[in-house]
Amino acid sequence: MTAIPDIMLNNGQRIPQLGFGVFLVPPPQTEAAVSQALRAGYRHIDTAEMYGNEAKVGQAISRSGLSRGEVFVTTKLSNDAHRPDDARRAFDGSLKSLGFDYVDLFLIHWPLPTRYDGDFVSTWRTLEEFYRDGRARSIGVSNFQPHHLRRIHTEGEITPAVNQIEVNPYLTQDGVRQFCADHEITVEAWSPLGRGKVLTDPTVTDIARGYGRTPAQVVVRWHIERGDVIFPKSVTPARISENIDVFDFELTGEDVEAIAALNRDQRTGPDPDTFAG
Ligand code: NAD
Repeated sequence: MTAIPDIMLNNGQRIPQLGFGVFLVPPPQTEAAVSQALRAGYRHIDTAEMYGNEAKVGQAISRSGLSRGEVFVTTKLSNDAHRPDDARRAFDGSLKSLGFDYVDLFLIHWPLPTRYDGDFVSTWRTLEEFYRDGRARSIGVSNFQPHHLRRIHTEGEITPAVNQIEVNPYLTQDGVRQFCADHEITVEAWSPLGRGKVLTDPTVTDIARGYGRTPAQVVVRWHIERGDVIFPKSVTPARISENIDVFDFELTGEDVEAIAALNRDQRTGPDPDTFAG
């Protein structure tokens, strides 16, 4: 299997461009799914306190025979814990659940601009503490719009390493991606397969047929060629292997454009400007 490329974050840390996401993986299935992913070659796991499966992620990694340093692990702050003292307790709790003394990346999960008096900057400053004390090797945000990022940029001290946002062929997020590119913030695309919805699109299936690959592989490859970090989710061993088996072909520029042209600004998840957690 060809190696998964790394992307260098704005602080010099490297992140595997393709990882494995565990949103909606029930805790009893999480250890098996993560173990399967690690056996298939994934070295980057994306979880969150709100997914309820951090402990199982940690167990799978600890029992894998891999060293802690070989697996990049991201987790995220619960929406209920934005106040600085709550955020400190929540971060301690995430480390304890995972069974680690550091995470590779810690994110504010949602900006929640209508909650906490719209004060996500104090929350960000608390994450800066975790970065400085070394328990978060990188820090970033998720679901932040350019106007949220601008506040972090002017009122915070550290530029987020990543912004994890919903991106798929039906939601190409050109504006946020351009803002991130201009500010050296790496984009992570969540729900990269549109939770499966984009895989039956005729343009995607036609292009896939042309390469002799599956629609999921073509959509994974589309994200890779646009330079975003992704972590498709599956609990099915064959699909876990299929989604990582994408490093022996490339899409033409025309096909990348044809898939991007499917954009209809259609979210599967909540709108970050109104979502209150
Ligand atoms: P996804 O786009 O990865 O889609 C997953 C679904 O696609 C699966 O449940 C399955 O139905 C289907 N699928 C997967 N592989 C397939 C294949 N090879 N063939 C056919 N169908 C296949 O959706 P997701 O799980 O919502 O997103 C991935 C990850 O993104 C999550 O696990 C999580 O880590 C992250 N995420 C983050 C946020 C956030 O707010 N930051 C929100 C949602 C998801």
